[in-house]
Amino acid sequence: MNVISRCFLPLALCCSANLWAWSNHTLVSHELIQSMPQVATQNPVKVESLAEFLMANEEAVAKLLERDEIWMAQNLWHYNPRPEGLVFKVTGNPEDVVKRFVNAIRINPNAKFALYLQGMPGSQLNGTAMPAVDISVFKDFGHLNHLPLQALTSGDLVSAVDVVVSANDEPDHGHDIGLFTDSGTDHGQLYGFGEQPFGNPNLEYGTQAPFHMGFYHESPILYALGGFLKETYPQMRIHQYKGLAELAFANGHDYWGYRFMGWGLHYIGDFSNPYHVTPVPGNSTLSTIWVGLLSMLGFPQSQKEAVQLVSNRHTVLEDFQSVIMTRAYEEHNYQHPAIQALTVKQPVAAYAETDVIEKFAQASMYKADQVGEVLMASFPYEYVQDANVEYSELGVLDTLEQTVHNHAGEQGYNTLTATISGLLSDFSMHGSAYVADILKAKP
Ligand SMILES: [Zn+2]
Repeated sequence: MNVISRCFLPLALCCSANLWAWSNHTLVSHELIQSMPQVATQNPVKVESLAEFLMANEEAVAKLLERDEIWMAQNLWHYNPRPEGLVFKVTGNPEDVVKRFVNAIRINPNAKFALYLQGMPGSQLNGTAMPAVDISVFKDFGHLNHLPLQALTSGDLVSAVDVVVSANDEPDHGHDIGLFTDSGTDHGQLYGFGEQPFGNPNLEYGTQAPFHMGFYHESPILYALGGFLKETYPQMRIHQYKGLAELAFANGHDYWGYRFMGWGLHYIGDFSNPYHVTPVPGNSTLSTIWVGLLSMLGFPQSQKEAVQLVSNRHTVLEDFQSVIMTRAYEEHNYQHPAIQALTVKQPVAAYAETDVIEKFAQASMYKADQVGEVLMASFPYEYVQDANVEYSELGVLDTLEQTVHNHAGEQGYNTLTATISGLLSDFSMHGSAYVADILKAKP
């Protein structure tokens, strides 16, 4: 990394303070999936473990991953080829089949792949409760602490909607953790992704940033100064999981068809948040470069401030979305505008691989400035405009809705809700295209 790139690095740390996009992804996927008759009218599907699925499809998975490797090297926006030693070989050995697979698609080998359902806020699940520690690799289980979790066993019958929605939150439970050479993990040394391009490797979840964010629409000069901004991988995950879902459906393993679908859909959901598709939303290229230059000249303060503000705005946006949607589900208020925005409109749009960058990431990039302005108008100065404040330390989650009411009035509250609903409406359109295209593989 050259001097200039390094100088721009702290800029990208803004991304690391908050990485969840939508803190609980089931909030943004439930209505999308359940309003699609293509999924909702399906018969219950039979649960099977990842090892069972892989052993039943070992040859087909090996062929798919070989084809994928060539395709991804030729077509992805950015790709670091998979080292030869990680190829998924057909051996017939069930003992290490999950490990072989995990290595081949290069995800965290400590990820749990448990059989479970994650309930919505305000819902009840039957059967045996699933401890969060068996789902997440993190010490802090976050929202999993407050949701119903149900353990499943191989052979159980479950609804397709529940499988997709539960799986949609799963990539944030540790799939993309520790994958770089400087992550301090054994697998990071093997995977061939090199050093972490941006994000803070010292945070528990910081290493997943380049897999859940994609900066595709910056100016050429910004890429020239900070080439690391190109080193992102969500497009790779969206592609990998789509292919695996299609393989599972084509071979009659619908449970894994829906689960891989949920995994891939997660990254499309991430893209519906402007803070995941541009490093400094609301900053012009010129001012971004200017603060970078000041930092290089020995005045790092303005860059630190820019980073702090972006981080605070990112977090407050997600907090508000999470608060209003969690409450709506708890109160069974399915007419809430944020939930209604996710209802899929038929006919579902067509899907093309190039849409991931040209439409999905582009749509929220376009809205980044407007979202920033609405945040400024909705929240008190210290939440979104004071670079000396770490917003997450204010501990204001419980009073957030009331604060917006007090600060921006009824109209401001509604504008903020409508702005978030607009982002979710885009996700509904883009996510449903992805889902419908995968389902074409179903015989
Ligand atoms: Zn994510």
